[in-house]
Amino acid sequence: MKKLTLGFLIILFALLPMNHEQSYGANNTREKDTLRILTSFYPIYITTLNITKNVPGVAVTNLTPPLTGCLHDYSLTTKDIKKFVGADIFVANGAGMESFLDRIIKQYPAVKVVQLSKGIPLIKGDGAEGDNPHVWVSIFNAIIQVKNLGNALQEIDPAHKNLYQKNTAEYVLQLETLRRKMHAALKPYQGKKIVTFHEAFPYFAQEFKLEIAAVVEREPGSQPNARELAKTIELIKRSKIKALFVEPQYPALSAQTIARETGAKVYILDPVVTGPEQPDAYLRIMEKNLATLEKALKN
Ligand SMILES: [Zn+2]
Repeated sequence: MKKLTLGFLIILFALLPMNHEQSYGANNTREKDTLRILTSFYPIYITTLNITKNVPGVAVTNLTPPLTGCLHDYSLTTKDIKKFVGADIFVANGAGMESFLDRIIKQYPAVKVVQLSKGIPLIKGDGAEGDNPHVWVSIFNAIIQVKNLGNALQEIDPAHKNLYQKNTAEYVLQLETLRRKMHAALKPYQGKKIVTFHEAFPYFAQEFKLEIAAVVEREPGSQPNARELAKTIELIKRSKIKALFVEPQYPALSAQTIARETGAKVYILDPVVTGPEQPDAYLRIMEKNLATLEKALKN
């Protein structure tokens, strides 16, 4: 009898995670009272974790693996697409970050799509690719995104309206506090010229009145040709730019060359597209960015 019970338990435990996967993957087996929220990528996932904190019956899943980074040219895998089948809500950045969005809206009309960049004035991208989608890198815009999500969830899930309201207010307060701290600390550096290696920072620079003098590798991984490189080096020397900002997610091969040629130093500035899957990740990463900027810009 004892043996039988143990055997049964082992089988039960072996089945548990599988059942969980299935309940998410297919409509017919999923629990009716669970609100399934799918987020498009890391910063949107972190925002959603904050707004759904302690809300009963809500499951948040991130569509793309946490190491994906930005979704420029991201192709959905079969595994990604399956996640839409069981989802009630898809939370996207919008502003062109999710190039697959139109296709998903057509293919899964039952999934409610919430685009968090609604109402944020967009900066034109360099070249022909449309608007720059990296709005969350500005704390001011991140707060708008948080409020957009809070409002949307209150509407979609009115039973938990008070909780969404409370979570939104709490997170906005944390972000506002950090924002004030950053503005006070960076005020002396307004108008400073910086060089970045990917188009992630225009909104951040706009908020803190920094001037992006050059973006060296606009597309992550694309390398400047010899003429572009020489032009950038000349610009950095002429403008006496002391700091180059690379991102932890995208190794910039040209950064070391430019640093060697100009004497400028290379620092890491994080656009919050990868990181720990913790609700306070955005706040922590921005705190680190602030420390980096203070160190880099005081020279
Ligand atoms: Zn990006």
